[in-house]
Amino acid sequence: MIVVIGGGPAGMMAAIGAASGQNEVTLIEKNKHLGRKLLLTGGGRCNLTNICEPEDLIYHFSKTGSFLRDAIKTFDNKSLISFFAKRGLKIKVEENGRVFPVTDKASSVLDLLEDEIKKLKIKVLCNTSVKRVMVTKSVVKSILCENGTIFQADKVIFATGGLSYQATGSTGDGIRMAEKLGHTIAPLKPGLVALTLENIFSHKLEGVSLNDVKLIFKTDKKKIVTEKGSIIFTKNGISGPILLSSSGKVIDRLNAGKKVFLEIDIMSMFDLKETEDILIKKILESPVKGLKNILKEFVPMRFSEVLLELSKIPQDKKANQLTFKERKELITLLKGLKFNVANTVSFEKAQITRGGVSVKEIDPKTMESKKEKGIYFAGEMIDIDGDCGGFNLQAAFSTGYLAGISAG
Ligand SMILES: Cc1cc2nc3c(=O)[nH]c(=O)nc-3n(C[C@H](O)[C@H](O)[C@H](O)COP(=O)(O)OP(=O)(O)OC[C@H]3O[C@@H](n4cnc5c(N)ncnc54)[C@H](O)[C@@H]3O)c2cc1C
Repeated sequence: MIVVIGGGPAGMMAAIGAASGQNEVTLIEKNKHLGRKLLLTGGGRCNLTNICEPEDLIYHFSKTGSFLRDAIKTFDNKSLISFFAKRGLKIKVEENGRVFPVTDKASSVLDLLEDEIKKLKIKVLCNTSVKRVMVTKSVVKSILCENGTIFQADKVIFATGGLSYQATGSTGDGIRMAEKLGHTIAPLKPGLVALTLENIFSHKLEGVSLNDVKLIFKTDKKKIVTEKGSIIFTKNGISGPILLSSSGKVIDRLNAGKKVFLEIDIMSMFDLKETEDILIKKILESPVKGLKNILKEFVPMRFSEVLLELSKIPQDKKANQLTFKERKELITLLKGLKFNVANTVSFEKAQITRGGVSVKEIDPKTMESKKEKGIYFAGEMIDIDGDCGGFNLQAAFSTGYLAGISAG
């Protein structure tokens, strides 16, 4: 009997892979329903993978990405798309290769997986939380659930996810159980997450969004990462898809004890000279207009107020009263508004967890533990984390499938 713990994308795919070999498979999920987090993915639309070249997939993961080489070879993005297509899911490709179901509903992906689980006669036990996996002399014996039920099992696939969005069931249970079984856990940190900023005035900008900006993150005067796109100011920082993608590299530096600085180029389409020329033109066109209203043509009103405050220019100053020095100051801010990065927001708002069961203790060809025979790992609970764009679900499906067919 093969028992899969955790009914997220990795666990469901692991159960499907294991049952394809005619094995008796039980899938245990602590929630009332399978795939709660899956339903939230891609804003409820599920960005299930990415159509980049299969061999490029691993470059979309952080340092431990090469661990995924075999899992991706066994079940890459093309296999994933064909798995879903064969079972009737129509997909579409959006910006940056992101793949979604045509229905724009994550429930279409979940329904298909659940149908397959039914077809393969996999026993599903929801509302059942696993408490402990008993291993004697390195052989898996049984599984103890919170409700006292004990299951005999020959092989166990852990697919309990990470720590983010805990309301979905990902509370780190499996990671703690793996640790108790003697596995090393790489420190758990939030990933693909908004950042908090030190400068106090950011709270004045809550809800303000800026489009077509360039973000430049620096440490020790060196650029870490540059991104272009839209951002939104939160109560104490910034968020937005471009930020989520760059957060990994920023977090790495913060974790290494480095100070990280952010520069926002609000006029990213223009260089310094062009920006100044545009501002001068606007001033000459409407010399008696309030400066705040001139700036409103480039940024939202609340942002223009902050720009004036930072340049120490009175809020009621007219365009034609602007001094040369003040103009230079404004241009400098428009081309490189500086913040100190404080931290990330909490796990609760992070899309993924970085860290997890050490890849050094898992056989990449099978997903079996190198410490305990008969124990397998899949999905986000492993120390792997990918970029925004469908890569994390691809990793969950690839590792899940490989763990399933290896155990089966
Ligand atoms: C808001 C949001 C949007 C996202 N959007 C995308 C996207 O569009 N594309 C993308 O690639 N990635 C996305 N991700 C990331 C992606 O959802 C995860 O990487 C993926 O769900 C990981 O799958 P998993 O099966 O490993 O873990 P999970 O999906 O976390 O599933 C783990 C399951 O295990 C169960 N479980 C835990 N402990 C126990 C226990 N003791 N006993 C029984 N069951 C247990 C949990 O209830 C849960 O159902 C998003 C994440 C979030 C939070």
